[in-house]
Amino acid sequence: MKAAYLHIPFCKTHCPYCDFAVWIDHKGLQFEKYTKAICCEIASRAEGEYLETIYLGGGTPSILPINNLEQILACLHKYFKIDPKAEITLELNPGTADQNKLKQIKALGINRLSVGVQTFEPELLRKLARGHTIKDALNILNWSKDIGFENISLDLIYGLPSQTLEDWQKTIETALKQGNQHISCYALTIEAGTPFAKIYQNNQNSNLPCEDVLGQMYEILQSTLLRAGFEQYEVSNFAQKGFESRHNMVYWQNEEFYGFGVSAHEFKAGQRKAHGRNLEQYLANPLEQEILDCNPALEELMLKLRTRQGLDLQNYQQKYQKNILKENYKFLQTAAQKGLVQFDKNFLKITPSGFLLSNEIIAKLI
Ligand code: SF4
Repeated sequence: MKAAYLHIPFCKTHCPYCDFAVWIDHKGLQFEKYTKAICCEIASRAEGEYLETIYLGGGTPSILPINNLEQILACLHKYFKIDPKAEITLELNPGTADQNKLKQIKALGINRLSVGVQTFEPELLRKLARGHTIKDALNILNWSKDIGFENISLDLIYGLPSQTLEDWQKTIETALKQGNQHISCYALTIEAGTPFAKIYQNNQNSNLPCEDVLGQMYEILQSTLLRAGFEQYEVSNFAQKGFESRHNMVYWQNEEFYGFGVSAHEFKAGQRKAHGRNLEQYLANPLEQEILDCNPALEELMLKLRTRQGLDLQNYQQKYQKNILKENYKFLQTAAQKGLVQFDKNFLKITPSGFLLSNEIIAKLI
């Protein structure tokens, strides 16, 4: 166990496409209570392990006042041993921190920022209703660099309503000009029950890009970032050499991690568990978790094949008594001939051109 995820559920606005467990708390009435609850959970469940990665995600953790962030980190230091070179990430949304707060965040030992930019096109950002402007995004990226953060990731979304290939190319190029070390890109998903679902689901005139255009957007993303010197180390993640997210690699390598906070998931002692999504219930009992159904063989295959490192077939067979190559020989041979997968020593890897079809390839193997 070398990783801990902490969920901070507060946001400035509830973006109409988001179905995460988030709370809008303009007056910050729950911040103190939440800090106490998550610290109580850490104090009760931590077993003093040596942590190499910590990830404060949300929600918008940068909304928490600095003294609350400080208490949470102090609590982690008290109940775990933290590697002096640990990767400590904070998710940060534009418009939630000024230069002074960024300096204080850095002084807490947070050494990696993940900034929710999503798009550099003003009209598309307006549709996402995220409560910040392009200027806010550029400011936070510039300030972070000036203050000395040397590991900054930027989140982008593609497949937005009315988004064109040119819009997407421009957004990627603007992102590259910011000089960040890491970029994560996900296609917009219309989640049931969100305001976006009401507007866009089953609506023929929704202006959402079709599958073909989404495929072209993904290819533009890959070719532009690869030309700029980024490596694609996971289906949706690109990094300059040495800046791959160590925390996310824990998930994708199917390794164990703690999950603290409302709605947080964890994988510990071979079990997957999750906290409920209700804030009041979490505040009343921060130790309550539900055991989730878990299929380790399936999860390992799905997670590892999303990475460029791929799946060690020999190790997989020893662990789960499943011979992936033998069971899928014909399919894998054809996929390899088409350049969608490759074999490298014991490893089966999906190639960058196969990543676009990774869901289909993985579905064939399970
Ligand atoms: S800022 Fe992120 S977590 Fe918060 S509502 Fe928007 S998409 Fe969801």
